[in-house]
Amino acid sequence: MSDNPLKTLIIGSGPAGLAAALYAARANLEPVVLSGMDLGGQVSLTFEIENYPGFPNGVGGQKLVQLFQEQAEKFGAEIIFDSATNVDLSSRPFRVETYGDIFHSQTIIIATGATPVKLGIKGEEEYTGKGVSYCATCDGHFFKEKDVIVVGGGDSALEEALFLTRYAKKIKIIHRRDKLRANALLQKRAFNNQKIEFMWNSNVIEINGEDVVKSILVHNNSNNKITEIPIDGVFIFIGHKPNSELFQNQIELDEQGYIIINKYMETNVDGVFAAGEIADSYFRQVITSAGMGTAAAMRAIYYLESNSM
Ligand code: NAP
Repeated sequence: MSDNPLKTLIIGSGPAGLAAALYAARANLEPVVLSGMDLGGQVSLTFEIENYPGFPNGVGGQKLVQLFQEQAEKFGAEIIFDSATNVDLSSRPFRVETYGDIFHSQTIIIATGATPVKLGIKGEEEYTGKGVSYCATCDGHFFKEKDVIVVGGGDSALEEALFLTRYAKKIKIIHRRDKLRANALLQKRAFNNQKIEFMWNSNVIEINGEDVVKSILVHNNSNNKITEIPIDGVFIFIGHKPNSELFQNQIELDEQGYIIINKYMETNVDGVFAAGEIADSYFRQVITSAGMGTAAAMRAIYYLESNSM
């Protein structure tokens, strides 16, 4: 712990956190970034990103994170591989405890992102890592020539199902309605892929196995029938939950737990800003998160200048 408070502490190292770090570093704020468990957050688990401007041929998620990191560090950002465990936003400077240290900072940019939602069914926890996965990029290669299911009907479900076609023999997308939420392009690609089939109006209600996943029980909402399907892998993509537990009762959150910000990325606590998926349940793109991180850093710079007079 240093005696002097930091000017800016950034919590989280996804596109929002690392873009904020770049802008804060270029303004000589010497920002410190707490990376969290995974540098780059969800992006680092994404195999390929095709919609980040400047990369007409796409770019690997990990590669993009590495480039973000390199650029932020080049201008003086310090990235620390640690996670915030306790935050006091009532003290000035703000106080943040991590597993390994205690930081004091004049401003904080929260960029802690979101994590995948669980189905909450029997067998899900027990077989996580033993056939149940929330990341096709991470685990897809374990399912070469196997049969897997994907749960969900949004962009993530379809994108990940398409990724799984590289490995799996057959992918069954199980969706609770008869209409997908995913964008038209992904729908077209999925419908045209020979390895993908759909199971509509259905919910997975139980995951069973011996050591590893062997089968699932699926309830059809239209005819009320329950079917057992032998399966090797269960990939779940049913949305995300904001990582805001640390800030509960200290900062204003909406009913889903997302941090409420204004158009300047300002939270209701002066000097605390939020950017990326922690404050955005709608756009959730690398480019929008990076843009929010940039805006948050610019407002932190403005805040420090205004308060130094
Ligand atoms: P999402 O859009 O919220 O979709 C979640 C899907 O899971 C929905 O189809 C939903 O069904 C289903 N679902 C939710 N709870 C369920 C439950 N308990 N049991 C069964 N099914 C359940 O989440 P997402 O796909 O993760 O995407 C989130 C955001 O990120 C979106 O804005 C998306 O556009 C964006 N995103 C974009 C890209 C891209 O542009 N390449 C890639 C990934 C994500 P219902 O449809 O019935 O609600």
